[in-house]
Amino acid sequence: MTGLSCGLRLAEAGIKATIFDKGRSIGGRMATRVSPEGFEFDHGAQYFKAKDDDFQRVVEEVRCADAVSNWGDGSGDQHLVGTPRMNSFPAKLGEGLSVRQGINITQIYRDEDSWSVHTDDDVFDAENVVITIPAPQIPALIGMGHPLSERLSAVKMTPCITLMAAFSGGQSADRRDIGLSDEDLVWIANNSSKPGRTASDCWVAQASPLWSEARIDLPVKETGKEMLSMLCSKIGFDPLDVKYVEVHRWKYANVSEPLGEPLLKDLTNSLFLGGDWCLAPRVEAAWLSGRAIALAIINKGCPEV
Ligand SMILES: Cc1cc2nc3c(=O)[nH]c(=O)nc-3n(C[C@H](O)[C@H](O)[C@H](O)COP(=O)(O)OP(=O)(O)OC[C@H]3O[C@@H](n4cnc5c(N)ncnc54)[C@H](O)[C@@H]3O)c2cc1C
Repeated sequence: MTGLSCGLRLAEAGIKATIFDKGRSIGGRMATRVSPEGFEFDHGAQYFKAKDDDFQRVVEEVRCADAVSNWGDGSGDQHLVGTPRMNSFPAKLGEGLSVRQGINITQIYRDEDSWSVHTDDDVFDAENVVITIPAPQIPALIGMGHPLSERLSAVKMTPCITLMAAFSGGQSADRRDIGLSDEDLVWIANNSSKPGRTASDCWVAQASPLWSEARIDLPVKETGKEMLSMLCSKIGFDPLDVKYVEVHRWKYANVSEPLGEPLLKDLTNSLFLGGDWCLAPRVEAAWLSGRAIALAIINKGCPEV
């Protein structure tokens, strides 16, 4: 979302940018997993809010194209979700931008007057570079000794182990349990109750940072079994009715200690770092960081990113 926000604002100003993403599909942590059997799970961000005027405007445009809807819970609160999948929202935003999926960036360094961006197979030159990956992963790209790496060390991100489970038995209730903060599971939702979903009985459960931290390196089969049992006892299902189970380990899921400013930039004013980790563990924070970086680039009047 940070990269897309930045790319879109730059495009509005007529500045061309190429976005490289190692993921197979667009969206980063606004992710949807589709099983071979057709079960679907939003296994990253569950819903998002748009309070900022500019973000609201963009969301409204995407809503008109049916790629965002409100997952209303009767309270009148905003619970926006991509439709028919969470990653439909970033996919819509990425239309018209130059986004290259499946490209893993391995190293970025300053080479005289430009930047060398190394991927697994290639090297690209750039006048300006924007990095929007989770903060703890950035020093590996720019070097542990880079002055910005020290600033990044103040940012803390927590893991989240996520269970995806599909059941038989027609359990299509609109259920989401928010704020189970004292428990090992901090979120449970029937993904199928979100608007536009066709697959039924697809549930998502997220473990607490503490629980996840203790198990992040354990085999997923083990954690999956434990989480399935916790989920079933919460929602009153029989684990034997499960038709599909999968676990995703988000090592850097949510920022617990953000930077407190929307971006970082280096002394050459041509390397910019951003992400949700700058401000808050939310989609909108990612959007705001990306826009702030774009404005910093636009304001220096550069021709190409
Ligand atoms: C389990 C979970 C639940 C959440 N729930 C909510 C919620 O309910 N509401 C909410 O608002 N927010 C939620 N969030 C947070 C929200 O998803 C994030 O704030 C937001 O999506 C972050 O966007 P981003 O662009 O900053 O980072 P990311 O989405 O992480 O994007 C970073 C991108 O960089 C790519 N990348 C990483 N390394 C490389 C590399 N070396 N080379 C190339 N590409 C690379 C990744 O593939 C990814 O696409 C949740 C997150 C998780 C994980």
